[in-house]
Amino acid sequence: MFECLNADQAIPTDQVSVGINLPPIAEPKKGVHVRKRVLVALRAYGDHELADEYERCNPRDLCRLHHCDRCRGRWFYSALNRVNETKALFYGSQPYHDIEAKRHMRHVTGLVALVRLSVRAIKAAIKECKKGFQSFSKKFKNVPVLGFYEIELINVPMMVQAGACPEKRRTLEEMLGRDLSEVNEVMALVHWHVLMFFRGGNGDEEKVQKWLRKHYPHRRQVRIDPLRWEQDLSDSLKKLAGYPLKNRHRYNLSFDTHGYENGNYIRPKELSFLVKLSREVPISEMKIRLRC
Ligand SMILES: [Zn+2]
Repeated sequence: MFECLNADQAIPTDQVSVGINLPPIAEPKKGVHVRKRVLVALRAYGDHELADEYERCNPRDLCRLHHCDRCRGRWFYSALNRVNETKALFYGSQPYHDIEAKRHMRHVTGLVALVRLSVRAIKAAIKECKKGFQSFSKKFKNVPVLGFYEIELINVPMMVQAGACPEKRRTLEEMLGRDLSEVNEVMALVHWHVLMFFRGGNGDEEKVQKWLRKHYPHRRQVRIDPLRWEQDLSDSLKKLAGYPLKNRHRYNLSFDTHGYENGNYIRPKELSFLVKLSREVPISEMKIRLRC
């Protein structure tokens, strides 16, 4: 079922973990812990060169690894600037223009594919999705879209055993075309989070919803949320601009933004795969920027 929620049902953006103080990865108080886990994972799988780069990352010699909080901070600020510039160009830069922006901007999540944990499969899923966005961009010439792809690891056996979140399981099964109980591996859920800029009254939002429903036909495969009306626009944008850059290092067994807190840590093997993926699919290829 296509999800389009009212303002009072929106994702509570204060649960989204990216803020102005740039907490390291998704867990503000555990940044050091996360860096250690990444290093251990890389070294355990013989990736000493990457581990060295990660360790010595600094503004003059950035490691550009997805799980680096230092690099992530820079990407976050650049994404936030782009969002704010687009907002100002599209709606205007006076404080009263924020009302229109708040009313018509949408935070949209699309699940692209559940694929094997292989660079080739992940790249293929992103490539295919980009083709879809190309046709989107041609069709919707007045709708700027800004965001990123994100790769979430799904520990399928753990999910099945835990019996967690039947909704998420059902969506993944529909996308995969198989029962998850037949799958005995960790898989990658390729998805994206974007901000879309609409104007009221021109019907674009309805047409975009229709397009998304057609291209993402499974239940909960797309989610469209308005911004929180009671929250200051700049706070919402700060949180949402960096939301796809969370690079979690625990499994999230549910659709809940905070569901990862109940999940177990990603094993070193898969964590090192994810970090190494940064070299194959760099941040420049993870960006989604249409018409802005
Ligand atoms: Zn770095």
